[in-house]
Amino acid sequence: MLRGLNMDRQLLVSSLIDYAGRNHSSTDVIATDSSGIVHRTNWSEICSRARQVSAALRDEGISQGDRIATIAWNDHRHLEVYYGITGLGSVLHTVNPRLRDQQIAWIIRHAEDQLVFVDPDFLELAEAIALETPSVRKWVVLTDELQETSLPNAVAYEQWINESASTFDWPLLDEWSAATLCYTSGTTGDPKGVMQSHRSIVLQTWATCTGDGHNVNSSESILLAVPMFHVNGWAIPFAAAMSGAKLVLPGPDLSAKALVRQIQDEQITFSAGVPTIWLSVVQQLKDTGSDIPSLQRIAVGGSAAPRSLMDTLEDDYGVFVSHVWGMTEMTQGSAGRFTHRVAGLNREEQRRRQAMAGRELYGVELRLVDANGEDVPRDGSSPGELLARGPWVAGAYFDLADDMTHIEDDSGNWLRTGDVATMDTEGYITIVDRAKDVIKSGGEWISSIELENAAVGAPGVAEAAAVGLPHDRWGERPLLLVVLEPDVELERDEIVEAIKPHVASWWLPDAIVAIEEIPHTGTGKIDKKVLRDRFSEFDWPE
Ligand code: ADP
Repeated sequence: MLRGLNMDRQLLVSSLIDYAGRNHSSTDVIATDSSGIVHRTNWSEICSRARQVSAALRDEGISQGDRIATIAWNDHRHLEVYYGITGLGSVLHTVNPRLRDQQIAWIIRHAEDQLVFVDPDFLELAEAIALETPSVRKWVVLTDELQETSLPNAVAYEQWINESASTFDWPLLDEWSAATLCYTSGTTGDPKGVMQSHRSIVLQTWATCTGDGHNVNSSESILLAVPMFHVNGWAIPFAAAMSGAKLVLPGPDLSAKALVRQIQDEQITFSAGVPTIWLSVVQQLKDTGSDIPSLQRIAVGGSAAPRSLMDTLEDDYGVFVSHVWGMTEMTQGSAGRFTHRVAGLNREEQRRRQAMAGRELYGVELRLVDANGEDVPRDGSSPGELLARGPWVAGAYFDLADDMTHIEDDSGNWLRTGDVATMDTEGYITIVDRAKDVIKSGGEWISSIELENAAVGAPGVAEAAAVGLPHDRWGERPLLLVVLEPDVELERDEIVEAIKPHVASWWLPDAIVAIEEIPHTGTGKIDKKVLRDRFSEFDWPE
């Protein structure tokens, strides 16, 4: 091999924050903490305080490869900790506080976390699990002053970092060292730990900043409406540093009212979040008659975004919606940008692409296979299981012997995503369903996602969930559950009429029931398991 003659520089997360600290020192980072206080800081301060976090961790005896957990909201301290943990070479383990206490304790034990950074909002939770998490040597509470707590070895963050050196040189790590650890939510079995290397984080962040990713650049003002514990906030805390963009971290209050206010006050140009967040923002804008003229684009993903949401955001508020698909195992795998050809098509054709789950993004190679592992054509209509591989796709799980999620064939190692999808020749993907949620009626498949999307377009329907329930004749049939807008009566025929143009007639739900609230998982997805259990005794109408 004739080696290239480039410099031997490793791709490290610390290079991101250094870049932002050097070139965008006075660019704002604005954060609301859990007590409601707004902190206005900048990339230079975040960078120097992150170095202090590294120094304080070193003083605690933390070494490279040690796992350090965070149970925290989106704020400046969490951001400093993101960079402080990874900069030292220890591993940032973001814990989803919306999981059950027992699951959180299990995850911390499995990761063998040495130290936990915890928001004061989650003190009670930390107290409840402290005895079950013996690997934890210290609890650093993200606050100025410690309140009364039974937590052993608890310390206030501000005091803790102030006791350490104010200068710290990032070590030159190997880019393959582990940087982050994030567990899948484990709706089917124990959670699985996805460990990303520094190399992987830098590469996926670069992809996020490209024009076909989220086009994040230094002129942006970004509102991070994805929790930083949900797949590293979709890499946006890293992309904001790589580009030196202004970053707004909303803290615990992700209500539509708070988000709209911050979009207006901070002249937000780009934001990202799950569909439910944007559905509530649109409702808030409609209710109050307000506008968000600065907002140019949003990325929506994590679960399927209904077409009607995209139409309203673009037609009424001028916001371009990029529909993205991804998983904990790879962060972002697609983005909903237009190819040159699609940009030349009419609006209806463009919207059709937008409603798909984005296009294959360079760096995550996608492939469809049938039940026998044979390739399914990319014809835009043949469904298959989606497989993925690439430099930032998890190749294995942390400390998991029995990995059923990867398959090895002649072409190498592939991740089975568990999603059933179609793809077209330009790489646009449509997620038909999660394999376990698809409704199997008379041997054929009904996409619960498509039914939901069509139902959300019906008048008076605020949110919808379709689940397959046992049926004597067909095996399974769809039950549609809807949450109605305030003061709206359930009009089943109207809803069916609204769905009809979008799906085959045999897909139409056999029953529609209005419920108060649709349950969501810790990462904002409709919790179909809870719904299936709740309606397991449902009697189909005659
Ligand atoms: P969990 O831990 O809940 O599995 P992930 O965020 O890793 O959390 O979930 C990934 C899954 O979310 C994907 O496999 C897919 O089923 C679903 N998903 C993500 N984005 C989309 C999208 N744009 N459309 C439909 N489903 C999506």
